Amino acid sequence: MEHPELTGIFRELVDANKKFVLTTHVNPDGDGLGSELALNRFLNKLGKQSVILNHSETPSNHTFLDYDNEIRTFDPGKDAGLILEADVLIALDMNNPGRLRSLEKYFLESRAKKVIIDHHLEADDFVDYQLIDLDSPATAEIVYRCILAYGPHLLDKRIAEGLYTGIMTDTGSFRFPRTDGEVHRITGHLLDLGVDPFYIYHNIYEENSLGRTRLLGEMLSNVGLAYDGRVSHAVITLEQLKRNDVVPDDVDNFINQAGAIAGVVVTLFFLELEDGVKISFRSKGDIPVNELAKLYGGGGHKNASGARLTGVKLDETVRKVLAETGRILPK
Ligand code: 5GP
Ligand code: MN
Repeated sequence: MEHPELTGIFRELVDANKKFVLTTHVNPDGDGLGSELALNRFLNKLGKQSVILNHSETPSNHTFLDYDNEIRTFDPGKDAGLILEADVLIALDMNNPGRLRSLEKYFLESRAKKVIIDHHLEADDFVDYQLIDLDSPATAEIVYRCILAYGPHLLDKRIAEGLYTGIMTDTGSFRFPRTDGEVHRITGHLLDLGVDPFYIYHNIYEENSLGRTRLLGEMLSNVGLAYDGRVSHAVITLEQLKRNDVVPDDVDNFINQAGAIAGVVVTLFFLELEDGVKISFRSKGDIPVNELAKLYGGGGHKNASGARLTGVKLDETVRKVLAETGRILPK
């Protein structure tokens, strides 16, 4: 989809400013990380001062992409000045300031122009410019269009690797419903620029630890079904994480395995954290799991949402959420 307005705002922001800070949400994924790396490489290529400051460390399966160590984990003591003195702050793949965690306070305080580039529903009103396309399969696809409109000659392999990672991960490796011909045309362009699809996929999905593989087995052995087999639910406890030496970021895609069951239209995944529970929601077809996520202060997309609850017990949370799930199931 063409968006002359969105790409025009992007061009003006780039041309009129010098110092940029880029960031993405807590527990970043391939789309957040790939988008910010691509944008950082583009801005640096133009001679801009641009840095990436993230609340979370980069998950281990994405560190290969940051081969020049462009991503810094935010340290308020050292880095707050960068945010406060920037000309432009760009938050990628997120639309709610709480997801900035330790950066939130400085982001909101800064007098910089504030921008989000995103594709999630229901953005909070906390920035000057919302470069949002709800139909876009990935934030990286919006960044691609912005850079392409700015100057196609600027796209190169380094930028393309970030963009490809964002599009590949957010489309579930080119299979989710928003994967259309345009996604493949863009991807084709990125491959022409030198991206190696095996290298990216392999690093992200096929370099797991033995503990992670075994933990997936444990989780799958205990998947439960509810509502006449229409809802599947899976749980991972802190004890399981510790025993298998797995960090919460490493179980990102487990929910898809728990949902790959005939007849299942909604899947719930509960991950016990030190201070609460993270819930992931997935659905097939016209079932708005974001409505469910919203009940718990979360959000996301119609078919993929999440929420994080603090100070709650795992068992109780599972029971409650399962009971609420009936509301969004078709009669
Ligand atoms: P996941 O379950 O993979 O963590 O997240 C699925 C989708 O829900 C993602 O698009 C993500 O942005 C969104 N999401 C996950 N957790 C939260 C949350 O705590 N708050 C909001 N607003 N969105 C979330
Ligand atoms: Mn995304």
